[in-house]
Amino acid sequence: MKPRFLNYLKQQGLKWTPEREKVFQEASAMEGHFEAEELAYRLRKKGSRISKATVYRTLPLLVKAGLIKEVIHGEKHHHYEHNHEKNRHDHLICLTCGKIIEFGEESLREIEEKICRQHEFQPEKVVIEIFGYCKKCN
Ligand SMILES: [Zn+2]
Ligand SMILES: [Zn+2]
Repeated sequence: MKPRFLNYLKQQGLKWTPEREKVFQEASAMEGHFEAEELAYRLRKKGSRISKATVYRTLPLLVKAGLIKEVIHGEKHHHYEHNHEKNRHDHLICLTCGKIIEFGEESLREIEEKICRQHEFQPEKVVIEIFGYCKKCN
């Protein structure tokens, strides 16, 4: 994890700062989906003086380094989660309560591959997000 981030920063000519390290560590410790706001709050609670702006600026670097990924794009805030290649899953998002349901469906992968092959397209990132209402809110 860390070497990957260090490498990325180096490639980009960016410095490994204590602030970036803190954000990196906290992001690594997060479980499931999280928002930048939440991460900033946890850092503050631990007595760190990292500004929200720094958190908002650093998370996209972690995304570009391939350590986390953005999920749930349809809302005001981005949500992030760890980039576990093996654990590929997609999301159902409730528009009323914000509940996020994860599902893994192998047959979707086959369809994606088929479509890409047909168009001789090299996929980089696939995002499947279904917005609607959960059982409780419907
Ligand atoms: Zn709901
Ligand atoms: Zn997820």
